[in-house]
Amino acid sequence: SSVADAPAGGRDLCLTGLRKEYPNGFVAVQSLDLEIPRGSFFALLGPSGCGKTTTLRMVAGLETVTAGSITIGDQDITHEKPYRRPVNTVFQNYALFPHLSISENVAFGMRRRGVKDVKGPVADILELTELTEQANKRPAQLSGGQQQRVALARALINRPEVLLLDEPLGALDLKLRRAMQLELKRIQTEVGLTFVHVTHDQEEAMTMADTIAVMNAGVIEQLGSPTELYENPATTFVANFLGQSNLIGGSVVGVEGGADGQVKVDMEGTVVSIPVERAHTANTVGTKGWVGVRPEKVLIAPAGEPIDAPGNHMTGAVIVDSSFIGVSTQYVVRMPWGREMLAFEQNTGARGVLAPGTKVDVSWRPEFAFLLDSSQDID
Ligand code: ATP
Repeated sequence: SSVADAPAGGRDLCLTGLRKEYPNGFVAVQSLDLEIPRGSFFALLGPSGCGKTTTLRMVAGLETVTAGSITIGDQDITHEKPYRRPVNTVFQNYALFPHLSISENVAFGMRRRGVKDVKGPVADILELTELTEQANKRPAQLSGGQQQRVALARALINRPEVLLLDEPLGALDLKLRRAMQLELKRIQTEVGLTFVHVTHDQEEAMTMADTIAVMNAGVIEQLGSPTELYENPATTFVANFLGQSNLIGGSVVGVEGGADGQVKVDMEGTVVSIPVERAHTANTVGTKGWVGVRPEKVLIAPAGEPIDAPGNHMTGAVIVDSSFIGVSTQYVVRMPWGREMLAFEQNTGARGVLAPGTKVDVSWRPEFAFLLDSSQDID
């Protein structure tokens, strides 16, 4: 089968025990297991060098596989030639043909495969990518965002089952990148193809993807929806990579109420509760861990005044820095045991911005905290 006669509708993409060892002995991808449902927008997110591009290139057939397999439905494509896979890639450096018009750039692949009537499909794809009015221009006459759309149109016209996107927005400025993120999401929803998007930008992944795999040093640290990963990170790496986290050392002192109960953690003299499903440690008494809580979940109030939501209550803290940045006020608060925490307040309200030196009480709801393995790095 070839790209041209790949069945419409698509099938799941599965990576099983996928491994890449480069000839110099460096293992870029350890042993990846991923099931990517057809029609989903999937992001591989991780820092530079974590192995995400290598993974994508193996799926595209541009890099050999050391061990494991790649299947689409029941078709094993592990050793298939790139052009025989129902897969297309959009790269950051989208080399368009400068001497061809936009519509000829888009039609190029179809023509090369010997398709005679390219007019209809080209018009459809140009409309989908909002390029109809640019059809007769040359690439040099287009903006960066429009050129990126041509690259996308050129890949989509092949009707791949899986579209691979390797940092496709990396060359665009921030504002255009934000607009293109929403645009890509709209197009993906419209065509219903599987998109696998590689990025190091957590906001980009969270904006677009249904499911994110966070990759670090050749392994997947955690897999989940943007909200699952943000609200219930399982490792310090994920907690720090997807936004900011307060991470405070503590020790398990007990568990109450079984599987949907609470783990009690002694944090420098204050005992806080964490839901069992958010405790990613052995919950035996004495286990050390990091208590994690996102800054926007940390509530503060001048000492003695009531705090809006009930939760863990800590007294004796003091504000050491406050910055009003419009959407929120960001406080640095020193806890009584000397450690600093971040607290982002969205509604500064009638009270106004609290000045450094103000004595405050600190609180957060137990269901917003998580507990991580203390053997992991927190920087
Ligand atoms: P980036 O966003 O910077 O491209 P990445 O997460 O996509 O990073 P990869 O490009 O997959 O990372 O590279 C993963 C690791 O494999 C890196 O440490 C890289 O130096 C190494 N690597 C890549 N290609 C080769 C090669 N041909 N030989 C040896 N090592 C390689």
